Amino acid sequence: MSDNVTDRSGRHFLQIPGPTNVPDRILRAMARATMDHRGPDFGRMALSILERTKRVFKTNNPVVILPSSGTGAWEAALVNTLSPGDRVLMFETGHFATLWHGMATRLGLEVDFVAGDWRHGVDPALVEAKLAEDKDHQIKAVAVVHNETATGVTSRVGAVRKAMDKAGHPALLLVDTISSLASIDYRHDEWGVDVTVSCSQKGLMLPPGLGFNAISDKALAASETAGFSTSYWDWAPILANNAKGFFPYTPATNLLYGLDEALTMLLEEGLDNVFARHDRFAEATRRAVRTWGLEILCLNEDEYSSSLTAILMPDGHDADNLRKVILERFDMSLGTGLGKVQGKVFRIGHLGDFNDLMLAGTLCGVEMGLGLAGVPHTKGGVSAALEHLAAG
Ligand code: PLP
Repeated sequence: MSDNVTDRSGRHFLQIPGPTNVPDRILRAMARATMDHRGPDFGRMALSILERTKRVFKTNNPVVILPSSGTGAWEAALVNTLSPGDRVLMFETGHFATLWHGMATRLGLEVDFVAGDWRHGVDPALVEAKLAEDKDHQIKAVAVVHNETATGVTSRVGAVRKAMDKAGHPALLLVDTISSLASIDYRHDEWGVDVTVSCSQKGLMLPPGLGFNAISDKALAASETAGFSTSYWDWAPILANNAKGFFPYTPATNLLYGLDEALTMLLEEGLDNVFARHDRFAEATRRAVRTWGLEILCLNEDEYSSSLTAILMPDGHDADNLRKVILERFDMSLGTGLGKVQGKVFRIGHLGDFNDLMLAGTLCGVEMGLGLAGVPHTKGGVSAALEHLAAG
């Protein structure tokens, strides 16, 4: 077999949990001449994009679109709403919560980082208890990762909101939806989220390069007194320019063409249908995993992720060796184990532009790979998944 990927026939299977496969419709939309970002055509396009983006976050409030990866959108959420030295409550649900915590600490925030086992989501009862203890309201924000991409665990943001309300605590609620937006049901307004952080390369089916902050009125008010010095990330000039369909800097024009098309696709399919499609793929995947006799990393059925499944390797078997065999033999990329689960876990991404036969092909590649890599398992996982898919 050639090492040169361009020599391979057929399409590469990109089954990592983001970046996801970019549909042809979006690729074609982006392959257009870049336009004047201060001209009337751009203004009309951007106003329509900004308005329809709100529907994906389920908000009536503004959503700013940043030329950044998700990490930039994390930073924008923190520096626009908080001040150096502010106390923040975060939960160690996995690698990405750990990275966000690291960023918050480096920025000079005082983070209470509640330890976790990377197999559970945020415990709403613990949120309530921590906030109830904070009688003089020193905690300024609770920051939660909705879907931990490293573990395939989805925290119950609606229940976190209820816990905060029960504690009667005024902290802001900041939520990372980087691997859940447009794949797993999410409701910025209904769940009283103050800043929702997201980015382009997962459920939105775009290449990397756009970050998002959906902003509540309370977060907007907090941004007026927040003490971090901001410039590029500052929401105020972005919102002022966005009101007329423009940006205070050169926006990522061609990615916005892609976003325009992605929004059309998602709204054509209907968000509820998009979520149901992802739920079905996730359930079929879990049936395959259980039949193989392997363990799903997520321990709580109510927190299973519909955008990816993280699978534990049997003792003595290296997940990255399995991934290597599958990449070399079948031209399929699976997600690596991140942080402290490296080598112990591999992840199947089943989000974005994805259908039944793509999932079937993905699971076939995994089942064949398990055999070739000598990982003990029971055959028949693919059949179990197919039965679920065929049932409707
Ligand atoms: N948060 C989550 C949940 C993620 O999955 C990722 C990336 O995969 C990030 C944050 C960081 O985003 P980026 O790599 O686009 O900066």
